[in-house]
Formats: sequence, structure tokens, C-alpha cells
Amino acid sequence: MTAKILDGRAMALELRAELHEDVARYVAERGQAPGLVIVRVEGDPASGVYSKAILRIAKEIGVPARLELLPAAVSSDQLCAVLVQLNSDKTVQGIIVQMPLPAHLSLDLIARTIAAEKDIDGISVQNAGSLLLGSPCLLPSTAAAVMQILERSEIALAGKHVVVLGRSNVVGKPLGLLLLQKNATVTICHSRTTDLSCFTRQADILIAAVGRPRMVTGDMVRPGAVVIDVGINALPEGGIVGDVDFSTVSEVASVITPTPGGVGPFTNVVLLQQCMQAAWHL
Ligand code: NAP
Repeated sequence: MTAKILDGRAMALELRAELHEDVARYVAERGQAPGLVIVRVEGDPASGVYSKAILRIAKEIGVPARLELLPAAVSSDQLCAVLVQLNSDKTVQGIIVQMPLPAHLSLDLIARTIAAEKDIDGISVQNAGSLLLGSPCLLPSTAAAVMQILERSEIALAGKHVVVLGRSNVVGKPLGLLLLQKNATVTICHSRTTDLSCFTRQADILIAAVGRPRMVTGDMVRPGAVVIDVGINALPEGGIVGDVDFSTVSEVASVITPTPGGVGPFTNVVLLQQCMQAAWHL
């Protein structure tokens, strides 16, 4: 079997066109476009690349966006002071705190400080709580992107066994909750799971979000399964690969997302989609 490839770049273009129209409607109704601010702490080169990509998409769809760049040694209190100021800034409707952050910063404090209604990457305690309760909220963008990729590709979830590899707060855990809301049967695996293949081979839909280059190989996948690769891993010798070994898995799966060109480019546009959702509700 050779899997059908889900093209994240094509889906991103489609969503960008939808957002372009949404921004025009917003400007016609409210008189000005919503503002977006990315708060980034210096140190991680990859996060700089993501910030640039988000700023470029924002510009393309007509959302004024700017970067608030903080030094690597910034304290949690200083970062939170910036968030408090942005929370009350009427020209700002969406705030992203770019991950990963240096280890000395308190994610907990940040999650309790960012205004839930402007938290377009779903990191606040209020949005996380609403997600758990199944109430409307702003979602972690990667988890939201995976759900939309499945939906736009008309992949049914009700009654399906979905195995998620990874339990991070930004991907694995929220995905598990969103999949449950869609009536999937969900198994979440992590680094302490024994006999991972035993679980992955049972999956109708397998979602990998572990940050381990090409960890999921063809022999771990049930023939005909749908495989979504969230992983973005930079190789020491150069190049980007996913958590899925594309060459072997694409021979077994029925549908697969590539890396690069799969979940990543679509996620950046979903952030802007959530910015628009936040703006309409403010
Ligand atoms: P993370 O916070 O490092 O979490 C990784 C998860 O994988 C943890 O739950 C960990 O288990 C689990 N894990 C690690 N090694 C494992 C193994 N050998 N077997 C089973 N589980 C294992 O990473 P993340 O932020 O969720 O990101 C995961 C991947 O997605 C990375 O490659 C990242 O670059 C990528 N990512 C992509 C996007 C996008 O837009 N496409 C966005 C965010 C992240 P423990 O909990 O037990 O440690």
C-alpha cells in the first residue's frame, strides 16, 4: 500500500484565504483589524523561525502583528509584567508566548497571567480548564490543527481507536480531550509506556508527538491506518524530519502527513484563525 499524503501546505493556503475574508469582514464591521503580539524570549533559534513565519502570515491576511523580544535572562515577573500590559492594551486582541521558553521561567505563572480571552495558543489555566470541561475556549494551536486536518480530510473519528504518542500540555493531552469530544476511543502513550508497538499496532489513527526523529517505523503501524506526524526534528547533519519514518510508514498506512509540509505549516495559520476568533469575541 502507498499512503495518500495529506498536504498541510495546501490546507494552510485554503485556511489563509478564508481568514483573509474574515479579516476584511472584521475591518468593515469594527473599523480596524485586530492586533497580534508575539512575546518571544531570546535563546531558541527555532522559535525565532516560527515567530517569523507567524508574522509573515499575519501580514498576508491583514492582521497587524509585532514581536515583543525579551532578553534570555528576563525573569518570570518581568515577562508577566509585559503580559499584564498587553492584557489591557485595547489594540491587542491576540497574544502568543512563543515556546520553548528558557527553563528558569515559570510556565505556571505565565498560564495564570495571560488574559484567557487573548490567549490564542490556549496556554492559560482558564482555557485548559474549559477544554477539560468541554466548554468553548481557545485551544492549543497544534492540537487544534491536528483536529482540523482530520476534519478537512473527512476522516471519521467516532468509534475509532486513536493512539496518541506524547502527553505534553501543548499537544498530547489537549488532543486526547478533543478526540474524546469527537467520540473516539483514545489511548495516550508516553516515555514510560511499555511495549509501545503493542499499542501503535492497534490504532485506526496514530498521532505521533514525541520529538524523536523517525521513531515510528512501518512495522509499528497497522496496515491501512491513518498516521499524523506532529514531530518537527532538526537533524544534526541538517534537514527536518518528523517522529514518523515516512519511507516505511507510507508503505503501510492508508493516509499520512509528511514532515515537513504537514501539521507544521497548517498550525501557524490556525494560530491566526484563533486570533480572529478571539477578536470577534472581544
Ligand atoms: P514534549 O513536551 O517534549 O513532549 C514529548 C512527549 O513525548 C512526552 O509526553 C514524552 O513522554 C513523550 N515521549 C518521549 N519519548 C518517547 C518515547 N520514546 N516513547 C513514547 N513517548 C515518548 O514535546 P511536544 O512539545 O509535545 O512536541 C512533540 C513534537 O511535536 C516535537 O517534535 C515538536 O517539535 C513537535 N511540535 C510540532 C508542532 C507543530 O506545529 N507541528 C508544534 C509543537 C510541537 P513523557 O511525558 O513521559 O516525558
